[in-house]
Amino acid sequence: MTAPSSPDHEAIERFRRLLRIPTISYTDESRVDTARFEEFRDALADAYPALHERLEREVVDGHSLLYRWRGTSDRDPLVLMAHQDVVPVVESEWEHEPFAAAIVGDGNTAELHARGAIDDKGSLVAIMEAVERLVGQGFTPSRDVYLAFGHNEETAGGGARAIVEVLRERKVRPMLVLDEGGAVVDGVIPGITVPTAMIGVAERGVMTLTLTVREGGGHASTPPAFPATARLARAIGRLHRHPFPTRMAPPVRAMFATLAPHAPQPLRALFSNLAVTGPVLARILTLRGAEMNAIVRTTAVVTELAGAPGENVLATRARASVNIRLLTGDTVAGATERVRRVVGDPRVEIEVRHGSDPSPVSPWRGAAWRTLASAVHRSLGEEVVATPYVQLGASDSRWFTVLSDHVYRFTPFHLTRAERDALHSHNERIRVQVWLRGIDFYRELIAAC
Ligand SMILES: [Zn+2]
Repeated sequence: MTAPSSPDHEAIERFRRLLRIPTISYTDESRVDTARFEEFRDALADAYPALHERLEREVVDGHSLLYRWRGTSDRDPLVLMAHQDVVPVVESEWEHEPFAAAIVGDGNTAELHARGAIDDKGSLVAIMEAVERLVGQGFTPSRDVYLAFGHNEETAGGGARAIVEVLRERKVRPMLVLDEGGAVVDGVIPGITVPTAMIGVAERGVMTLTLTVREGGGHASTPPAFPATARLARAIGRLHRHPFPTRMAPPVRAMFATLAPHAPQPLRALFSNLAVTGPVLARILTLRGAEMNAIVRTTAVVTELAGAPGENVLATRARASVNIRLLTGDTVAGATERVRRVVGDPRVEIEVRHGSDPSPVSPWRGAAWRTLASAVHRSLGEEVVATPYVQLGASDSRWFTVLSDHVYRFTPFHLTRAERDALHSHNERIRVQVWLRGIDFYRELIAAC
């Protein structure tokens, strides 16, 4: 694979050491083992001495990390983000122990199996490797470079937001912020066979509604004609039968326009005349699986359900949670109104439990975009097509949109469908060669800025 004591081999060994520290996030914060985060912080200092000598480090909000690498100018800095925490594991489902960082296979196909191998220590450690090497070469960036590593991204905690507060007080206005997000993928968009670097220029909003139906209660032996549970079920049925309308948001249009020259006919015509073909294409995409459906509409799904506390009593309160992901252009208020209309029943109470609108959209033209795209080409391959897209999941980067108009979401790894499916699931893994190229990407990006 890589010769022992070669720089690549040593980088991989550092990566494995960091993957073995289980920095797991739990929604119930009392379950978080904070000592692991201290251990991780110390291990970073130990693995990257030149970086720690040269950069200033602050610990924010308990365990988040903010590094500053002073450049020749402190104007318009670059911010590279990643998160230290990982999601929990169900150990029995894994083929290899999730925190052993086993290397499986050899040669160009060797894989590193570990929780966090991609999400998101893959990025975090690749960033550290890139900076360590540049510092070691005596490189000084032309602008400041910040490394912002939150510690509770997976549970939507406040680490990254606290970092944003620190930077805002200091009036830091980044020219480019890069966080985890899309990867280099093949065959995701129908008809496109060239590898595609999916760079998130926006992310969807997230909200949860609570639907509640109340009634008097009583014994299950004498139920009323239309009990709370049935009324709630009717509301859920209506929601499910009336999904949000399909729509081509501007970044989605831009994605198809970018990919059109690489598509065979008749798809090429379909992708390049969206003013006419947009509605038809959107409808076709809804039939191409859950991912394609989610890029052309706001999605809503009932997740939690609750009824009576016992099998033989009537529910005095029947409740459902509806998790909604808002496409660029929709709002929490608008989506709530639409659900109210579709449910069409004043006895179903509808309440916003929490909600945030979609992020602003970063441009897919101009200097920041070009810098990103050319770093992709130089490090990941000339044949890779960089395209904007709307990220389907939420990331910490949404907090940075108050600091910068140029917030992008991209993970510089070429991943297969199976590798992407393993994120947040069992057998998370990355091919060693793929990870090493990610280091090159961050080096190119820092040098180009
Ligand atoms: Zn992540």
